[in-house]
Amino acid sequence: MTKNIVFGPIASRRLGRSLGIDLLMEKICCQDCIYCEAGKTKIHTLERKSYVPFADVIGQLNAVLAKEPETDYITFSGSGEPTLSADIGRVIGFLKDTCPRYRVCVLTNGMLLGDPDVRRDVARADLVIPSLDASCQEEFDRINRPVPGSGFVPFTRGLAGFTRQFRGQVWLEIFIIPGVNDSDASIGRFARLAGTMRLDRIQLNSLDRPGTGNVAVSTEENAQRFVDVLSEIAPTEFIRRFRSSDAPPETAESRLLKLLRKGPLHREEVGKRLDLSDYEAGLLVRRLQFSGDLHLAGKDGAVFVCSGRGPEK
Ligand code: SF4
Repeated sequence: MTKNIVFGPIASRRLGRSLGIDLLMEKICCQDCIYCEAGKTKIHTLERKSYVPFADVIGQLNAVLAKEPETDYITFSGSGEPTLSADIGRVIGFLKDTCPRYRVCVLTNGMLLGDPDVRRDVARADLVIPSLDASCQEEFDRINRPVPGSGFVPFTRGLAGFTRQFRGQVWLEIFIIPGVNDSDASIGRFARLAGTMRLDRIQLNSLDRPGTGNVAVSTEENAQRFVDVLSEIAPTEFIRRFRSSDAPPETAESRLLKLLRKGPLHREEVGKRLDLSDYEAGLLVRRLQFSGDLHLAGKDGAVFVCSGRGPEK
């Protein structure tokens, strides 16, 4: 049985509490974005197929849903681009047929949304959040690094057509990279593109903190330039970082830090103890390591996660 296809619920900046489904379990994507927190894309492909056994997905969902978890969304996300999974339509169908009280969300880079098969597969989702980080081919190649030969115009046409056909909510996400996609000319192009789509919301995102390659962090003032223009098209917001005062009381971060106060944890234990996928656990550890809340220490060939910043080197 494949481990941790279903993980969480975890606290999500955009979705509240979110139960995750990872239909890939590896960094498989049709893009290789310069800001991707999951690291370099291992399999750069447009091929749709089953990446994990369907029976394992349903087995894990049945086990988790039997406990009736409190969650705002069940979200397809995880290690790469979820619409590359040929099973996504069947899994969404299973969720809507067996537990319709849960809302289903698909986080996607949007590249396959022009494909009629993919449109049919995600048709029963309640919410689709596609990304549009580039306003032209040059930015697309520089930021998203799609599979070679991928054209920006067919991508945006496919995305726009999807938004007009889909019956659920569409929230467009734009990742602001200062110096790359935030000129006045870029913002004007984003507005023209967004104007061809049916959008319920536009969310602007940026790195929480410096650290991924050479990608800079956008200030609120800079993001406001986008808000001023894009609000004409759909309600637009800049997603704030979590602050301790508005984070849900039990985030994965707070649960891990609470565990570490009792003593170090073997690195491979983190996912199991918090009910996260290996991918999510890895991101969580890296985030808290970067903020100085934990450090890694080696002992007898094993790696342990320990509380605090650790000894200066
Ligand atoms: S589309 Fe998403 S998963 Fe794929 S490389 Fe970009 S940020 Fe990472």
